[in-house]
Amino acid sequence: MRTIAILGATGSIGSQALDLVRRYPDRFRASCLTASRSSEQLFDLVREFKPDTAALAVEPAALPEDVRSCQWFFGPDATVRALLAARPDDALCAIVGIAGLDAVWNALDVCERVLLANKEALVTGGDLVMAKAAERDIPMLPVDSEHSAIFQCLQARQGNPVRRLLLTASGGALRSWKKADMYAATVRDVLAHPTWNMGGKITVDCASMVNKGLEVIEAHHLFAMPAEKIDVVVHPQSIVHSMVEFEDGAVLAQLGMPDMRGPIGYAMGYPERMPYDARPLDFAAVGHLDFAAPDLDRFPCLGMAIDALKAGGSAPVILNGANEVAVGAFLREQIPFGRIPEIIDAALQAVPVSPITSIADVYAADAAARRAAEAKL
Ligand code: NAD
Ligand code: MG
Repeated sequence: MRTIAILGATGSIGSQALDLVRRYPDRFRASCLTASRSSEQLFDLVREFKPDTAALAVEPAALPEDVRSCQWFFGPDATVRALLAARPDDALCAIVGIAGLDAVWNALDVCERVLLANKEALVTGGDLVMAKAAERDIPMLPVDSEHSAIFQCLQARQGNPVRRLLLTASGGALRSWKKADMYAATVRDVLAHPTWNMGGKITVDCASMVNKGLEVIEAHHLFAMPAEKIDVVVHPQSIVHSMVEFEDGAVLAQLGMPDMRGPIGYAMGYPERMPYDARPLDFAAVGHLDFAAPDLDRFPCLGMAIDALKAGGSAPVILNGANEVAVGAFLREQIPFGRIPEIIDAALQAVPVSPITSIADVYAADAAARRAAEAKL
């Protein structure tokens, strides 16, 4: 039996992780559950899973009598306080955005393993987080489907060098849109993701393909690969979750129907696989798998993210902070979709790149990026 914290328990990843906890009551106990502001949903989860601690970033008006048996924390640092009080074996970090960095950082102090969905924590604090994980010998188990696929393929590595990582990309909701139409794409257009059902922010990130850029940066940190050895290939069916190429040209891929419970369960149960009601992959029904090069002209955010990785220092932090501001404004229908790359680009032009040597440096670069992005809204 392992205890696990589900940080971001009310979200898309958090809910699917809890579906697995429900299926394996003898293997996992959710000892810490946290959310931002969805208090009613979290109360229901506390009633069902009876964790030791729980947290809400925004304090609710009242705490119902029947959830008071667990220890509650409220406020912006409540997630971390609830995590430190629970001291679980594992932490599933599934908060969205740089808001989740502090939780990842602190999980490395008290947990045996970190299960990472929160890619923005690595995009912004990757060098520091990976160094701390290595120093403390804490495995960082990827939950992002592409990185889980690569991690699974690397189980067959046997000490051999890797020539290239190939990240597949669905292409998002606007994959086949004309460039001229993309600028005015609405929230409704963008949230209609063809193959995955995810939180709002990441669904917008998929439509702009900045998500794939964030994932290139995430792969760079998780697998210690330079940007030049990470390629992106568009694959609309989302069946091939990603691939690893070895020196002899052999390419290993991990395939399956798109369902995030696959990668979440692989991280939770690692090295054991945890069956769930996965739809089997029926090759004859799928018929064909398509691949194409990404179109950097229609999806400039992907190129900007790869350039930010190559620039190093605070560049990925600036890109991420500006993207978070722009995506927030787009979801509030304050700006058209086409402004997202413009705002990211403006922030990258306005904020000078500086070295990152501490978590404080990360937050300083993020704040500068947010100010620059907000000035452009
Ligand atoms: P979501 O918006 O559905 O859920 C986010 C969760 O984090 C919620 O429980 C929310 O209450 C909590 N949260 C948000 N802001 C917070 C804050 N400031 N403080 C504390 N808690 C906060 O997001 P999601 O789609 O589940 O994505 C979570 C992370 O996993 C993201 O980094 C995303 O990129 C990554 N990811 C998601 C998917 C997916 O299929 N949804 C796939 C791969 C990677
Ligand atoms: Mg992914």
